[in-house]
Amino acid sequence: DHINGNSDSPVKLPTIKFTRLFINGEFVDSVSGKTFETIDPRTGGVIARVAEGDKEDVDLAVRAARQAFDDGPWPRMSGAARGRIMMKYADLIDEHKEELAALDAIDAGKLFNQGKALDIPGVANLLRYYAGAADKIHGETLKMSRELQGYTLREPIGVSGHIIPWNFPSSMFFMMSAPALAAGCTMIVKPAEQTPLSALFYADLAYKAGVPAGVLNVITGYGPTAGAAIASHMDIDKVCFTGSTEVGRKIMQAAATSNLKQVSLELGGKSPLLIFDDADVDKAADLALLGILYNKGEICVASSRVFVQEGIYDEFVKKLKEKAKDWVVGDPFDPRSRQGPQVDKQQFDKILSYIEHGKREGATLLTGGKPIGKTGYFIEPTVFTDVKEEMMIATDEIFGPVMSLMKFETIEEAIKKANNTKYGLAAGIVTKNLDVANTVSRSIRAGTIWINCYFGFDRDCSYGGYKMSGFGRHLGLEALHKFLQVKSVVTPIYNSPW
Ligand code: NAD
Repeated sequence: DHINGNSDSPVKLPTIKFTRLFINGEFVDSVSGKTFETIDPRTGGVIARVAEGDKEDVDLAVRAARQAFDDGPWPRMSGAARGRIMMKYADLIDEHKEELAALDAIDAGKLFNQGKALDIPGVANLLRYYAGAADKIHGETLKMSRELQGYTLREPIGVSGHIIPWNFPSSMFFMMSAPALAAGCTMIVKPAEQTPLSALFYADLAYKAGVPAGVLNVITGYGPTAGAAIASHMDIDKVCFTGSTEVGRKIMQAAATSNLKQVSLELGGKSPLLIFDDADVDKAADLALLGILYNKGEICVASSRVFVQEGIYDEFVKKLKEKAKDWVVGDPFDPRSRQGPQVDKQQFDKILSYIEHGKREGATLLTGGKPIGKTGYFIEPTVFTDVKEEMMIATDEIFGPVMSLMKFETIEEAIKKANNTKYGLAAGIVTKNLDVANTVSRSIRAGTIWINCYFGFDRDCSYGGYKMSGFGRHLGLEALHKFLQVKSVVTPIYNSPW
């Protein structure tokens, strides 16, 4: 069933139009003149060389963003006017959805059809959602306890810096930029070094839609240089980071030792999926596979720990094995593929080393475990059974198509096992019993609970972490409020001196 990365592509590969930094409404070379390669994970070949931004480039972008915030029209125009520009931006994205989906497919190994049908229209709709909120930003009138009149204003935070991971280059770009734009902030966006291409395209479309120069700047480059310069910049008011827990800690440290900028962190996960005895085993097996294999397991909320109640465990294992065999791994442009290549060699090696570790620790490979083909970074859907909670494959975020399957007897045991992790991003529950669903939902310490579904994302349903999965919130009005701050305004009622 598995095909590798060399099938004839039915889609014309995109020409790469933008490879330079976008600062103050213009594409420019990096100050150093340096560039880096971005790689096609289908083959390991170079797609293009892209400008390598560093501290000096971040400084230039911050200067532009600062000026656009302090003196420019964007935070001063009405919310409705910002909203109209964002609507136009969304339309331009829709018009270019094939090209954008193709860019993410060659840069990140994401399925082209999925990008075209879900990710790209999804970000256009996310812009529309926040465009609609831009003229509904307001504070409150306060009933004060003294002879004072008070009200609050919600004001944009200022210049925000966005540091983005590679797994959803388009969605992650807009989960931060769309609410920031609606709030009236100006921003510097640093895409992941693995996936810089669509971000530069989005910068161009923003400018074409009428987003003024300096409002949305894109600096491509590496984390420890360009990313670190954002986190420690003295003139950035907020840093929004989505990525690993390890780097999240560095971001917070850099914010603390620079200007105490606000920090928002969306970090890793090791999310549990709990399947109870009364579940439809066939559907539950489909859900469990989707939960770990969607986007080749490179998704922060992946259901990487699956706990099945003992009454259906054996039947579940059988079904899962059969279904995993039918799961097609292959070229992201091939419509038969359900899973493309891992994003790069480093991620590919890391996943395979976790698989080896799992075998050494004594877990049993139910299915998969090997790379596919000789070129590119394709890995078989992999399921481990006989997993113990303390094994590394059950504690660490692997960020690949690797499931740890475990068994439980009682609800109490399921809750305890689900919570036995430093992470708390999401959890899934499969049961027809409402009492079980309600009890377990309230007992799991995670930011999102999906009952009888998985990846139930929508633009007005915010998600984010508990525990070491961070404390930001993407999507919904929660995310908009993260780019606003509250100012209180007070006047005396009777002209008294206090
Ligand atoms: P990463 O932390 O290695 O990189 C993320 C971004 O941070 C990249 O742009 C990178 O260049 C930058 N970076 C790296 N080192 C830096 C430093 N010292 N200073 C500043 N910036 C730096 O993460 P990744 O491997 O790209 O992405 C995978 C991780 O992201 C996983 O842990 C995943 O769970 C997490 N993630 C979380 C969410 C969420 O919403 N919670 C969403 C997607 C991904």
